[in-house]
Amino acid sequence: EAECQGGRGLWGRGVVGGSGLRADAHIPPSVLREWPPTSESPVSVLTLHHNFADQMPGFYVPWEREGFSDPTLIYFNDALAIELGLDPEKLKEKGAQLFSGNVLPEGAQPIAQVYAGHQFGGFSPQLGDGRAAMLGEVVDPQGQAWDLALKGSGRTVFSRGGDGRAAVAPVLREVLISHAMHHLGIPTTRALAAVATGEFVRREQMLPGAVLARTAASHIRVGTFSYFAAKGQAAELKQLMDYSISRHAPDAEKAEIPALALLDATSLKQAQLIAHWMSVGFIHGVMNTDNTTLSGETIDYGPCAFMDRFDPRTVYSSIDRQSRYAYGNQPGIGQWNLSRFAETLLFLVDSEQDKAVELATATLRAYSAHYGAAWLERFGAKIGIQASEEDRPLIQAYLDLLELHKVDFTQGFRRLSAVLRSGDVAVCGLFPSEASFAGWSEVWMERLQGDPDEIADALDRVNPIYIARNHRVEAALTAATGGDLGPFEELMEVLADPFTQREGLEDYEGPAPSEFDAEYQTFCGT
Ligand code: AMP
Ligand code: MG
Repeated sequence: EAECQGGRGLWGRGVVGGSGLRADAHIPPSVLREWPPTSESPVSVLTLHHNFADQMPGFYVPWEREGFSDPTLIYFNDALAIELGLDPEKLKEKGAQLFSGNVLPEGAQPIAQVYAGHQFGGFSPQLGDGRAAMLGEVVDPQGQAWDLALKGSGRTVFSRGGDGRAAVAPVLREVLISHAMHHLGIPTTRALAAVATGEFVRREQMLPGAVLARTAASHIRVGTFSYFAAKGQAAELKQLMDYSISRHAPDAEKAEIPALALLDATSLKQAQLIAHWMSVGFIHGVMNTDNTTLSGETIDYGPCAFMDRFDPRTVYSSIDRQSRYAYGNQPGIGQWNLSRFAETLLFLVDSEQDKAVELATATLRAYSAHYGAAWLERFGAKIGIQASEEDRPLIQAYLDLLELHKVDFTQGFRRLSAVLRSGDVAVCGLFPSEASFAGWSEVWMERLQGDPDEIADALDRVNPIYIARNHRVEAALTAATGGDLGPFEELMEVLADPFTQREGLEDYEGPAPSEFDAEYQTFCGT
């Protein structure tokens, strides 16, 4: 402990948090319906709404802060603040207190939401926000509401054996990867701020603690439905469905069977999201139903990673021993998760169970079509074509080639534009021999339509040159844990514009040395 606390001036005094764990997370129904008066003076640079807290009693418990002695703001997302219609400078002044949860924004009614989840296939009937607090909603200038939540902000009744805290590295990992995803154009929860708490958390070793402030279109998950379904709470399920429809699928309200329309809207969003992940080699790593959102946003950046050399069996997560969430399994897992969602809605689909199952099954089948269409569009664009079904073999042949020759996924697609511009297959330079690429490339070039330079430019707009390379992420996080935010900040800048090649950033282009990739493992960071 003493050793950890030495030489970490940036991270404060090193008070150890996390005593008095609460093992039993049972919530008595009476607590679910109460609201305690808050005594702190609110901060008015940030005014929150509390629509969820108002409309959905029974879906959360009020959150009470534990407080941190010496918080420091270590990251703030100016661009996001501006998009939300907030004043970045004023927010930064109060940032350490606000985003550690020490002081509440005006209008905040902080809550810990309850949810369940299928984790690696097995059902956990009660999870809930064990280390998070939803403060309320920010309404942006367009009138859209965004949840503002803290993660790592202390224990709640849902903490089970956990300390409710987070360490600097996993918090900044979420900042980095969600930032990378956002700039790749992928729907995601976003990081508004990160605060070092000035305290240490006990993991395998003592680590500096942090809190993440994140925004999301909502925090409703498939697992939220599962919680009430498992308890047989029909009225709450109907209420949750109506709330989800109003927030995420307003058209479903007018549908003949709103539950079916919500299922279809959610499955379309998930299919498109997962196809988008696949198109950049993203492996989520923990696609449990509590991490499957109704909004269609990527959530929970735990053991996620971008794949280097292409292999659909790639898994990085240390806890995914059966490879359940391997790259190539993600689309199927998406459908499995949606099936768990469908089960919670059956009684709202039709009062006759057989009929409800039949209708829901047909809707779930449409997921495959949604996914197939999204995949064709994304991967077609990655090779410069507007793909139809007949083009599937051409795309697949290239993926097979990448796999066979263990080629880096990102570079394998990015280099296609250079080949087009030069008209020379040698420019690819990623395959063991020119011949191994030339065969495919000949068929590919015949299929292309239009001006090669224009196609090349279009390719560069969809095939990133900079991704959050695992060795870069780890180096940035290791430095940050030691108190040096330099590499983190530099990597953030690189990832803010993943498609435009810039001079001096050559070192960010390539994969990690193969020894690194072979050994690389990610952790949940909990
Ligand atoms: P996750 O793996 O982040 O999706 O979390 C799964 C569940 O574990 C959620 O209910 C979290 O709130 C809970 N959890 C994760 N880490 C902690 C922690 N340090 N303290 C308390 N609960 C936690
Ligand atoms: Mg989660």
